[in-house]
Amino acid sequence: VIVARTRDELERAKRDLRGLGRLALVPTMGALHPGHDSLITLAREEAGAVAASIFVNPLQFGPTEDFTRYPRDESGDLTRLEALGAHLAFLPSTEEVYPGGAPRVTVHPGAMGERLCGAFRPGHFAGVLTVVAKLFGMFRPELSVFGQKDHQQAVLIRRMVEDLELGPITVRVAPTVREQDGLAMSSRNAYLSAEERRQAVGLHQSLQAARQGYVRGERAGARLLGLARVRLGEFPLLQLQYLELVHPETLQSVERAESGSVLAIAALCGRTRLIDNVVLP
Ligand code: AMP
Repeated sequence: VIVARTRDELERAKRDLRGLGRLALVPTMGALHPGHDSLITLAREEAGAVAASIFVNPLQFGPTEDFTRYPRDESGDLTRLEALGAHLAFLPSTEEVYPGGAPRVTVHPGAMGERLCGAFRPGHFAGVLTVVAKLFGMFRPELSVFGQKDHQQAVLIRRMVEDLELGPITVRVAPTVREQDGLAMSSRNAYLSAEERRQAVGLHQSLQAARQGYVRGERAGARLLGLARVRLGEFPLLQLQYLELVHPETLQSVERAESGSVLAIAALCGRTRLIDNVVLP
């Protein structure tokens, strides 16, 4: 894997990879785990050259959030990317991405960025979309891959590409990769104490309770959310932020569940904020 840390190194690496064909970009914040692996693998299947960016983007963290203590594992990440057959790793410094400080012009996510996670993390999606727009500008990829684990993020990126005519760029979304017990993999799971880790599975279990209700034929959103809430009650360490049944593309709350509707949840597990979602079959 070619390692680039500056724009110049990135340009050189892109030139070296030109013969491989379509370029795919997988943006990440590092501390890579099997969830990230599946994005890289999907990119490898669909493009000739695969680049991963590893950048903990200060713009998407609130003032009281975990930017400084966010897990970082550069050498582990590079080993992983090498093993997966990624061609290029871009690990820029904050100054490289934001020369002269925070950008004066940023991407405004609109009302969809204020729902769900956006309601609890003001400015978060503006930070995400701004850095992804910059990465798209730097890489000019034909394909970019995101994870279903962050459903709202993937939807907003799709909308940004379409609404701001950033294409031609295909946005693909890879399924959520989970631990044995169902907990969605996340770099933030490393923060959890043993007891928190045991209860963290409550997010998945709540969603599963609602999903099972749906599979049994229940369609009333309030009833499905009730099933999830009852299950959540079995996990006293989980402090619910939101639990919603939404339309997969508009993220608007829906009253009746149908195939493709998304159940989304966010909760604090101790001090660690966890999210998960399930798409109804
Ligand atoms: P992050 O490094 O956490 O910002 O995530 C980078 C990309 O990996 C995002 O598109 C995430 O949605 C995706 N991702 C993170 N965790 C998972 C997971 N458990 N399964 C699938 N994709 C994931």
